[in-house]
Amino acid sequence: HNHSPKPEDLRFKAQLLDSCKKGDDFHRQDGKDSNFVEEDTKENNVAEADRIFGVNSVPVKPSAVIRKLSMGNGARNVTEADKIESLDASVSRILVFVRLRPMGKKEKENGSRCCVKILNKRDVYLTEFTNENDYLRLKRLRVRHFTFDSSFPETTTQHEVYSTTTGDLVGAVLEGRNGSVFCYGATGAGKTYTMLGTMDNPGVMVLAIKDLFAKVRQRSLDGNHVVHLSYLEVYNETVRDLLSPGRPLILREDKQGIVAAGLTQYRAYSTDEVMALLQRGNQNRTTEPTRCNETSSRSHAILQVIVEYKTRDASMNIISRVGKLSLIDLAGSERALATDQRTLRSLEGANINKSLLALSSCINALVEGKKHIPYRNSKLTQLLKDSLGGSCNTVMIANISPSSRSFGETQNTLHWADRAKEIRLKECEVN
Ligand code: ADP
Ligand code: MG
Repeated sequence: HNHSPKPEDLRFKAQLLDSCKKGDDFHRQDGKDSNFVEEDTKENNVAEADRIFGVNSVPVKPSAVIRKLSMGNGARNVTEADKIESLDASVSRILVFVRLRPMGKKEKENGSRCCVKILNKRDVYLTEFTNENDYLRLKRLRVRHFTFDSSFPETTTQHEVYSTTTGDLVGAVLEGRNGSVFCYGATGAGKTYTMLGTMDNPGVMVLAIKDLFAKVRQRSLDGNHVVHLSYLEVYNETVRDLLSPGRPLILREDKQGIVAAGLTQYRAYSTDEVMALLQRGNQNRTTEPTRCNETSSRSHAILQVIVEYKTRDASMNIISRVGKLSLIDLAGSERALATDQRTLRSLEGANINKSLLALSSCINALVEGKKHIPYRNSKLTQLLKDSLGGSCNTVMIANISPSSRSFGETQNTLHWADRAKEIRLKECEVN
């Protein structure tokens, strides 16, 4: 195996380093994504980041300048144990993705620098420009390296995000399984763009429904599928129906699990109506009094897609099954960034989002393999009890901004996502 880097890759490294020094966006001039990292990631990630951003001739210990936040072993190569686990239907893993949005026009104008680079659709490099003095002293950039199931660079299309993250879940829902997709990240990081999108560039919610209808049509001879949509909001621990706004909904527990009493179940026949419906729903999201025209950064929007399937078996008995897909645009994470129990507890009571904290607590409990998962602690986690943990499919999309001004939030989001990827879901005691 020949590990010696190609000349164009060496040029790219030099260019990267140079652009880091100047604080430019990292671009490879030939427009190709690099492939040198692919070879290199087989080795130590720290040394790897060192090679990409560092200068080999400077005699500084890499560990002094590169802090690896990754808590696992970084690279997620599929091991034999993973393969065996994935054969066992009672154990599944949370899939964690990162999506970097493009730099906004205003950000470019106000002198923000690009502090995130995604290579190989997997490796995320985060660098800090604030410490100019350190940089000058050490002649190195601090670089943090993370890896995820997939990482989407700023050029990734809505469709690519949808098919990589959610496509398989739509198939599973038709088979009667539950699944959920979360967008997590700070306000302005691109959660709503990813989930809802725009008329021209519809997001995961709309593409999932489109795909669902296409799949249902293909299977129409096998039986009868009925698709229902509900769109709801959790704001300040109050649950509201976004399709027919009115009084807050009360959560009740019945045989099927937790249900929001009186929630509209919209019978959907085609994709055409859905985008308009969701946009209208989004206009009903609670806005914060201080920022009248902005959708609240503190409200969670949940789209539930319920697919009922009915058919008859050979002896003409009716067989039916129900699958549910939950697509969640979470509140901004900027005020609830803790990932450990102690900090989480100390944050309770402070003016931060209780449901978001409770979600982090559930994720912690799942990471630690606890038997008791504290779903009851908030409205959001109660609503998602049948979609998070157990044997359902869970997908997290962590949204990040490239701007150096969002460095702290981006770092926290990546850290949170890094923690979430440690989860191996087993049949856990649901409570
Ligand atoms: P959030 O919901 O996390 O607060 P938004 O989805 O509202 O963030 O995104 C903030 C801004 O960035 C919006 O103007 C949005 O259109 C834009 N944006 C976000 N992600 C992308 C993307 N991938 N491509 C283009 N524009 C994006
Ligand atoms: Mg939003």
